[in-house]
Amino acid sequence: MYILSSHEIKQLAQELQASHEVYGPQVDPQTQQVFFDQLTDVAALNLEAPIPSMPVKEILFPQMERILKYRYDSEAQSVTMSKQYFEKPKVLFGLRPCDLSGILVLDRFFLGQEFVDDVYLAHRRQCLLISNTCLNPFPQCFCVCTHSGPDADEGFDLDLTKLQDGYLVKVGSEKGQALADAHQWQLASPAQLSEQKAVVDHCIDLFPEMATDNKAWISRVMNRITTGFVKQETWEYIGDQCLECGACSFVCPTCSCFNIEDTQTACGECERLRMRDSCSFEGYARMAGDHNPRQPVEDRRNKRFFCKLSYPQSKKYLRPGCVGCGRCQWVCPGDIGLPNVVQYIRREITGGQN
Ligand code: SF4
Ligand code: SF4
Ligand code: SF4
Repeated sequence: MYILSSHEIKQLAQELQASHEVYGPQVDPQTQQVFFDQLTDVAALNLEAPIPSMPVKEILFPQMERILKYRYDSEAQSVTMSKQYFEKPKVLFGLRPCDLSGILVLDRFFLGQEFVDDVYLAHRRQCLLISNTCLNPFPQCFCVCTHSGPDADEGFDLDLTKLQDGYLVKVGSEKGQALADAHQWQLASPAQLSEQKAVVDHCIDLFPEMATDNKAWISRVMNRITTGFVKQETWEYIGDQCLECGACSFVCPTCSCFNIEDTQTACGECERLRMRDSCSFEGYARMAGDHNPRQPVEDRRNKRFFCKLSYPQSKKYLRPGCVGCGRCQWVCPGDIGLPNVVQYIRREITGGQN
């Protein structure tokens, strides 16, 4: 492990800008909202900013993306095609650990199963991940329940923790080690290693009691969801509160559903678009012939929570499908963010005792 000053951290970002697109947390001066966006000036990189409003998946899996252009020549009966996604080296600088875990879930979904998604791979292949330990939980955070924060233990190239005097830097990959070797970074002292541990322990102590209390409950709730023992009335209660707006899926760092649509432009050229989808939409599972096996909203809500908190999904992703960022709690107009759903199922288990 190494120790770098705040100035050296900014210098590193500046230097990486020569060969990479560098993305990081920035605070909008007008709205004070935090965005994880491309940095035109590294002076705007704010490693102390709260969790960004939107997850970083926008960079690897955008809301809407043109993936292909093609043209059919009817006279020659031939098709010309050109792909519209391109590989560019990127640095995601200052990822909150929950967002890093979100990327690891997306990696499993797009790259770790029967097929490899070329579009995602193009965005992900040359990506350097630099995570940033949280010193304080933000009001909606519960990553301590899902083992995804407040510090990162895998998946990063470099990991930063702010100490009294500078940043402790952990190396997590060959790419990260190559940077450390090239710059001959100063090794951290044993006292600095202990300080890093104390910083993380202090942050864990700051989590509200409800978040830590939910930790044991989350595995009980996962058991219920996995075995299908959540009562239909509970799903109906949750479904009744859902406005089917899709916001929870779009802010969730791990939601990966998408749709493909082809459109034709005026000059006869066709574009293939990939757009994020949400299981909250009524047409999500509609098939040709108008058969819709998940028309009732509660059948789509239970699918969402099965995806986030069930053992088969955790086995697939190698971690829970929820990384505890709390964004869905933030945005849901129906009061059915994931922590509330855990509470509803918990009440069902205890017979309404809490
Ligand atoms: S959920 Fe955890 S890792 Fe994510 S921002 Fe909050 S404290 Fe940090
Ligand atoms: S389900 Fe909610 S809390 Fe969990 S990762 Fe998604 S947005 Fe964050
Ligand atoms: S944000 Fe809430 S209301 Fe909107 S689709 Fe998600 S669960 Fe339903």
